Amino acid sequence: MRVEVDASAIAANVAAVAAQAGVGVCGVVKADGYGHGALVAARAMLDGGAAWLGVVDVAEALALREAGIDVPILAWLHAADPDLAPAVAAGVDVGVSSLVQLELAALVGATVHLKVDTGLGRNGVPLGEWEAVVARAAALQAAGSVRVRGIFSHLAGSGAVSDARQRDAFVAACDVAAALEPEVRHLANSSAAMGLAGAGMDLVRVGIAAYGIHPDGDDAAGSAATAAGLRPAMRVTGVATDGVLDVGARHGLLPAEGAPVLVGGRIVPIAEVGVATSRLAEHATGEAVLWGDPGEGEPTAVAWALAAGTIGYEVVTRMAAA
Ligand SMILES: *Cc1c(COP(=O)(O)O)cnc(C)c1O
Repeated sequence: MRVEVDASAIAANVAAVAAQAGVGVCGVVKADGYGHGALVAARAMLDGGAAWLGVVDVAEALALREAGIDVPILAWLHAADPDLAPAVAAGVDVGVSSLVQLELAALVGATVHLKVDTGLGRNGVPLGEWEAVVARAAALQAAGSVRVRGIFSHLAGSGAVSDARQRDAFVAACDVAAALEPEVRHLANSSAAMGLAGAGMDLVRVGIAAYGIHPDGDDAAGSAATAAGLRPAMRVTGVATDGVLDVGARHGLLPAEGAPVLVGGRIVPIAEVGVATSRLAEHATGEAVLWGDPGEGEPTAVAWALAAGTIGYEVVTRMAAA
């Protein structure tokens, strides 16, 4: 199996979303760049104009630093009793979701982004505690033990109405924290960056759209992505021999009966995904494209996701680009 990543597609996708959102982009490269390779994705996103990079944990951020990436990086999820000193040493900003984390950040002089829970229901300072945490952050910032560089929140993505409600709650929370004079306020993921008015704030955190998959779901042809100017960045190929494809669950494939595979210029459906190999519905032989660029007549990762009953994110993130 081969996983090819088109870095120029990632760069172009970031540029497309940035143009639409009209604000800066924080390129999200968690989960090894959604399976595309964190470093390749990070560099491509910076080429596309991203000014920030976002990851889940500090270890991911340190790996980017070790590779020579020197732009601002935010890591937003930490263990129960995290040692944030390595983040400070590497100049990595940390997300702070509680008073306890704020105190730990101040102990090591961290640069933080306060995360307010506007309705996601996990990670983030609950709205009821927001004023107290902001007050404590103001005191710590005045004392020089912490720098509040950002305020952020994450959308649950459970619908336009609830997303809009979260946006309004976030704007109010930013007002409460105005005296902290944060450099960046950021709320939007790909979906909100592309479709929720007023959600752009100072920065949008773009993950899935950068990899060329429409955040709000798509058809098998990837029509919504194409219409939005997004191009899939991952191409997965294998070899079919008399109806047996040399790619299986072990390589990251989800079971997806009926998923289209391009073999020798013809679309052949998957009959069954096995552990090491998969069975095609016909005795086809030749180079096989599992998903790639629909502009070239290749199937999409979304087509695989639809056959598997999931979303494109799950399909690409399980593949490990070498
Ligand atoms: C993953 C993630 C994003 C990016 O979301 P997409 O839907 O992939 O654009 C943004 N912010 C946070 C906090 C995330 O965890």
